[in-house]
Amino acid sequence: MNKTQLRAEYKQKRSALSPGHQLRLNDLLLLQFQQIDFSGIECFMTYWPMQHQAEPNTHLFSGYLRHMIPGLNILYPKVNGKDSMDAILINEDTVYDTSKWGITEPRTGPVFSPQDIDMILVPLLVFDRKGYRLGFGKGYYDRFLAQCRQDAVVVGLSYFEPVDAISDTHEFDIPLNIGLTPDHIYEF
Ligand code: ADP
Ligand code: MG
Repeated sequence: MNKTQLRAEYKQKRSALSPGHQLRLNDLLLLQFQQIDFSGIECFMTYWPMQHQAEPNTHLFSGYLRHMIPGLNILYPKVNGKDSMDAILINEDTVYDTSKWGITEPRTGPVFSPQDIDMILVPLLVFDRKGYRLGFGKGYYDRFLAQCRQDAVVVGLSYFEPVDAISDTHEFDIPLNIGLTPDHIYEF
């Protein structure tokens, strides 16, 4: 299926999950996440989950890593005026704003280079068996990942098992290195 068809299908599937079911799936995703080898990870980029899109609770994952890796730098994206994103270092005092589109971002903070990032959690609707991700259709992460190091570990979370193939992937689509579902870890 193509991106347009899959976006409609997976937005629907996700919003059909009850809050209780989502809590269970998030716990299972966290158990999978805890199997990853985090040695050498000093700089981790995550994102704030969009409530209205029923995204996995990324706070569980960044919270776990914060305890596992003392001194970990945690970055959040902030869209800038140029159709791209800055990577902002956060701490316990960071103030966040939520836009009218429901995107929550740090108000301010030090900007890191994409080259500093060792591991990055990327939002998605579903991924396929080659690790290609389906985003929300704006390409922000494809453009951002193109600026990251080749050895940065790209991790995606999905409540659902991968689809066979996203039929209309392009050369600008940057695949995952690790895809997590409640029952499996896929390495690409
Ligand atoms: P998503 O990754 O959010 O699912 P798409 O893969 O469909 O969205 O990409 C959306 C658009 O983003 C593309 O049609 C393309 O124009 C633009 N885009 C993505 N990556 C790049 C890039 N590296 N350079 C320039 N434009 C890009
Ligand atoms: Mg893409």
